[in-house]
Amino acid sequence: MPAKQVHPKVFQIAAPFENNGLVNCYLIDAPRRALIDTGTASVPQGSLIPALAELGWQVSDLRVIINTHIHIDHAGGNAEMLELSGGAIHIHRADAEYTDRELYLEKYCRENLRLIGDADQIPQSEAFQLQLLGREWGVDRILDDGDVVDLGGDIRLQVVHTPGHTPGSASFYWESEGWLFTGDAINGRGGRAPGFPLYFDAQEYITTLNRVRDMPVNTLAQAHRYRWSAPTQEAIRTGAEVRQTLDDSIAVWRVIDTAVRDELRADSDIAFPDLVQRVIRRAAPDLGNDPDAETIPPGSVATIAAHARAAGHVL
Ligand SMILES: [Zn+2]
Repeated sequence: MPAKQVHPKVFQIAAPFENNGLVNCYLIDAPRRALIDTGTASVPQGSLIPALAELGWQVSDLRVIINTHIHIDHAGGNAEMLELSGGAIHIHRADAEYTDRELYLEKYCRENLRLIGDADQIPQSEAFQLQLLGREWGVDRILDDGDVVDLGGDIRLQVVHTPGHTPGSASFYWESEGWLFTGDAINGRGGRAPGFPLYFDAQEYITTLNRVRDMPVNTLAQAHRYRWSAPTQEAIRTGAEVRQTLDDSIAVWRVIDTAVRDELRADSDIAFPDLVQRVIRRAAPDLGNDPDAETIPPGSVATIAAHARAAGHVL
């Protein structure tokens, strides 16, 4: 997939990855050229290096490597891009600690499989995640809310801490253009059907949605093609689509939160896998999913666990 120019200074690279995944990385043409997200470990050779070649850029032109968050499909290509470019890796403080593989696998692999009763799948899942995570890498610059990543030439990206999806999910605000690069901070109705929004802290996530909704943003540059109330599924949303994407995300959050709280009120001893099944079924119409489907939508276990915890339920 070639680089697509989406702004005079911004190129979008739609990078395929394992299991039919697709992540959008962004290149910013500035005196200090920047790459936002590096995909999985296979994405540098599969998409990023070819895109740079097509643009006529040297890999060593990349001075800044930004991760919107630590997930495998956003930071898995870090080691290779760092090695090839020598650019500095930037990530928010709260996700930087998950460069520790043990912490990462516990939170993003084992915990959910145990909760849903699929602990026997842990070895296989761990091996897959480690493959996509690539080699280990170090952080060059730890980011906090309000920090500025100055790319030169009046291109300044302000760090907006937008947690929920992960503790250190960050968005990057190019104020003079009204652009906000959000990674996976805003999930709409989740990824491709049967999708579910994915976040590990329900309260942080809704706070993030409300915060971004109040910002003067005219373009959202997202990492995935999240579903929403419009038929198109572009990763970039402009104008009125920005507010609609946020309103849809907030509406879905409420549907899931209400379903979780209702089910816990009806049966406070409910087994967690049963709670998941009931909430999936209840939320299906609002998410555009099939209520009778047998499959567990990706993202649903972590998100329903997050709402249950927010309701004071001990898992
Ligand atoms: Zn993610």
